[in-house]
Amino acid sequence: MSVAPLDFGAPVAPRPAWLPAVAAELADAPAADVLAWAVTTFGAALTVACSMQDAVLVDLAVRADPGVEVAFLDTGFHFPETLETARRLQARYRLKLVTLRPEPGAASFRANGTEACCAARKVGPLDRHLAGRAAWVTGLRRAESPSRAGAATLEWDAGRGLVKVNPIVAWSDDDVERYIAEHDVIMNPLRDKGFDSIGCAPCTLPGSGRSGRWAGSGRLECGLHLVPRGG
Ligand code: SF4
Repeated sequence: MSVAPLDFGAPVAPRPAWLPAVAAELADAPAADVLAWAVTTFGAALTVACSMQDAVLVDLAVRADPGVEVAFLDTGFHFPETLETARRLQARYRLKLVTLRPEPGAASFRANGTEACCAARKVGPLDRHLAGRAAWVTGLRRAESPSRAGAATLEWDAGRGLVKVNPIVAWSDDDVERYIAEHDVIMNPLRDKGFDSIGCAPCTLPGSGRSGRWAGSGRLECGLHLVPRGG
């Protein structure tokens, strides 16, 4: 599959001088070690992003810091199973859960197309929240799609001006399944119905990897991760 080159027209924030050396140290570190470093380094200024596809990243993160902030983007178009998964996670872990919502009257896929909808309902709310944070943690994995093949454990999110931590970036699908089984991790029930990747209901079909996301459109990313990388 060919992936269109990304256009980074916006100004970018300079990368901290210390980041390349730490990124090299953590490149192949276990996820638990990466998260331990992140909570120690950034403390209350760290946000863990969770799509409610499964609780692998949250389970790892709360082991490092039970009070870590977890952010969920409620676009207004989620499957009921996804919202129920959010409720289950909050109950099990007593999460410090922050739900990020679009502004009133935000663009929608029906009237404005999917790119404008994702920009208004995902990218905008996350950008506004992360503007006050020092680092964010994602569950991004290289194995998910060609668009993610170049991701590293520790990156500089230059578009937003903060550190991006991807503790499970090297995990295979089997690694994820093994962790879920060994730790009795909560999963979105749609995973058992053939959805490898779970986004909003109108834009997600069953499929392997991210093939079910905006199926047939050529899109693989909503824009959350389409920012200049560094480090
Ligand atoms: S995935 Fe679809 S419904 Fe969700 S924000 Fe993007 S375009 Fe809108």
